[in-house]
Amino acid sequence: MNAISPLSPLVDPFARQISYLRVSVTDRCDLRCVYCMSENMSFLPKAEVLSLEELDRLCRAFVRLGVKKLRLTGGEPLVRKDIMWLFGRLGELVHSGDLQELTVTTNGTQLARYAAELRKTGVKRINVSLDTRDAAKFAAITRWGKLDKVYEGLAAAKEAGLAVKINMVALKGINDDEFDSMIAWCGEMGFDMTIIEVMPMGDIGNEQRVDQYLPLSMVRARISQNWTLEDIDYNSGGPARYVSVKETGRRIGFITPLTHNFCESCNRVRLTCTGTLFMCLGQEDAADLRKPLRASPNDSVLIAAIRESITRKPKGHDFIIDRRRSRPAVGRHMSVTGG
Ligand code: SAM
Ligand code: SF4
Repeated sequence: MNAISPLSPLVDPFARQISYLRVSVTDRCDLRCVYCMSENMSFLPKAEVLSLEELDRLCRAFVRLGVKKLRLTGGEPLVRKDIMWLFGRLGELVHSGDLQELTVTTNGTQLARYAAELRKTGVKRINVSLDTRDAAKFAAITRWGKLDKVYEGLAAAKEAGLAVKINMVALKGINDDEFDSMIAWCGEMGFDMTIIEVMPMGDIGNEQRVDQYLPLSMVRARISQNWTLEDIDYNSGGPARYVSVKETGRRIGFITPLTHNFCESCNRVRLTCTGTLFMCLGQEDAADLRKPLRASPNDSVLIAAIRESITRKPKGHDFIIDRRRSRPAVGRHMSVTGG
C-alpha cells in the first residue's frame, strides 16, 4: 500500500520529467578537499539549517510529485547529528514502493559506524569519494583525512552488502598516475567507479582550478592504453557515460560537464540544507522552499512553490575553466549543493 498520495509529476519547460532529487543535508564536513573547499570555511549558522523533520517533509513532497530517486549528500551527510533518523524515514518510502532508490554520497570516514544501519534502512548502493590510494596524497588532497578510516568504512560497507561506487576526481599532477591502479583495485574489490572532472564551483583559497583541471577525454585515452573499454548503455540515473572494463568486468562512468554537455537529459534538481532549490548545478538561479514550507503545515503552498520553481529550470549550464577567468563560474561551493 502506498504511504503517500501521488500528484501529477513535475515536468520542466523542456519536457524533462523531474524524477531525481539530491539533498545536501549539511554544508559541514570533516574534511577539506582542495578542489571543494578552502581550509577556512565559514559554515551556515545552525538556525538557518532545516531540521531533519523539515527535510523529511520536503523530500516527501517531491516524492508525491514523481521523484523516484533520492540521494543524500553534503558537505558530509554522515556527520549530521541523528542523520540515521532521516534515512529511516525515507527508507520507509523505499519499502512502500513510493521511492525506487535511496542513496548517499559520502567521503567514507563515518561508514564503519553507519554502513550496517544504512543497509537496514533500505539503502542498497552508495558512492564513496576516494581520489587516491596513497596515504600521504590522501592527507594532502583532503587536508585533514586519514586513508585508513575510509578503508575501514569500505570494508564495513562490503560486509553490510552495500554496492559501492568509487568517485574519483581527476586532478592534474596529483592523481593522474593512479588511474590504472585504481581500476585494478576496484576490480579486486568489486566496486564500480566514476571519474569526475573538476568543476569550477566556489572559491578554494590559493588553489587554482586551471592547475587541477584534467579533461576526461585525456584520461580515457590514457586508460585505454592498458584496459579494454567497451561502451555500454548502462544508466545509473545520473549524468555519467559508462564503459565496461573487459579485464575486470566492472563499470567506469565518466562525468564530463566541461567537455560534454549532459544537460539535455537532465532529470534532477538539488536541494540545500537551508531549503534552497537549485534547478541546475551550473546556474545561480534558485527557489526558496523554506518559506513556503514554514508558512503552513499543509503542503499545498509548498507544492505550488515547487511547481513554480520547475518552470524556471534552465536548458543547461555554461561552465568554463580557462586562464582568463580567475573567478569560479558559480560562486557557491559543491558542498552547498552536494555535487
Ligand atoms: N562529502 C561527500 C563526498 O565527498 O563524497 C559528499 C559531498 S561532495 C561535494 C560530492 C562529490 O563532489 C564528491 O565526489 C567530490 O569529490 C565531488 N566534488 C567536490 N567538489 C568538486 C569540484 N569542484 N569538481 C568536481 N567534483 C567535486
Ligand atoms: Fe567534504 Fe566531500 Fe567536499 Fe571533500 S568533497 S571537502 S569530503 S564535502
